[in-house]
Amino acid sequence: MDFLPFTRPSIDEDTIARVAEVLRSGWLTTGPQCAAFETRLSELCGGRTVRVFNSGTAALEIALRLAGIGPGDEVITTPLSWVATANVILTVGARPVFVDVEATTRNIDLTRIEAAITPRTKALLPVDLAGLPVDRERLYAIADAHGLRVIEDAAQSFGATWRGKPIGSCGDFVAFSFHANKNITTGEGGALVLPDAGLAPLAEKLRLQGVTRHADGEMSVDVLGGKANLTDIAAAIGLGQLKHLHAFTTRRRALARRYFERLDPALELGLPLAEFEQSNWHMFQVLLPLARMRISRGEFIARMKARGIGVGVHYPAIHLFRLYRELGWREGDFPVAEAIGRAIVTLPLFPAMADTDVDRVCAALAEVLTEAVT
Ligand SMILES: *Cc1c(COP(=O)(O)O)cnc(C)c1O
Repeated sequence: MDFLPFTRPSIDEDTIARVAEVLRSGWLTTGPQCAAFETRLSELCGGRTVRVFNSGTAALEIALRLAGIGPGDEVITTPLSWVATANVILTVGARPVFVDVEATTRNIDLTRIEAAITPRTKALLPVDLAGLPVDRERLYAIADAHGLRVIEDAAQSFGATWRGKPIGSCGDFVAFSFHANKNITTGEGGALVLPDAGLAPLAEKLRLQGVTRHADGEMSVDVLGGKANLTDIAAAIGLGQLKHLHAFTTRRRALARRYFERLDPALELGLPLAEFEQSNWHMFQVLLPLARMRISRGEFIARMKARGIGVGVHYPAIHLFRLYRELGWREGDFPVAEAIGRAIVTLPLFPAMADTDVDRVCAALAEVLTEAVT
């Protein structure tokens, strides 16, 4: 039987043809495809202004810069995310302030945010882990009460909704990623929804060396910009992908439901929150019953692989990486995130998967765990 990876992008023939057309067009870098991609993304985000970048990380970093966040500032975020979430805060010279996650949603625990606010706090940077949206009403109530900016790390929640509205269609800054493993991909890429169209010129400067091109052909540079523009090749992939956004999300939800039906409760796995209205089910993640297992998570993953099934780890708690330990964080600081980070595994879930693939994963899981649990 074929190896089943934990994820795989679905690229249709129309998209491949679009990319070939761009390759033949003579214009490969940022151009008409990026402009069209920004327009489509804006339509999906309630008409708000969107700018695209070469990664989700760049979108987050530029959001922090647009919000004026830098040295001396604190940004409240979650310790349970891809390390990019906290890295961008360090990159702009600010300090991440981690707040532990909720065991049920695995997202930042909103009830603990206020205790972490100091006079230096400038922004909240929550993550919709696995595509499950953080409660936007409570999030913005806290931000408003304390005069804080919000930078939504929606890298995993493109296509998800909050109370019927697409993520990105409201709020302050909203950053998406189109990395190859995300629900919609451009290979590598990202986008930022702006709270104000007036920020677009600065966003454009920050993504390309601070350069402004004038109508008379002259250029000027008045801020330090980086190199974060998207190629038209990538944008053409994105345009092809967007056509499937609804179908992809629907299929992911159906596969997630099937996992809930098929996973044997006797295995005592820690299941994700069973939410099928809002989450885009970017990942289906379970917690291994490590305390009762005779094998490590690494060995579990190896045994699944030997049965033809790819299993991922997303993610170990950020503050326990050496870089962060050297900045002062320690084991025990955020026990909920740490316990999840140690036990979490990502099971295969992607739109092209068959229902029977879910059954195959569940059967292999039962075999491996039955052998390994005391
Ligand atoms: C993928 C991801 C990012 C970064 O996106 P890139 O496009 O890989 O730079 C940031 N935050 C989270 C939560 C992610 O999953």
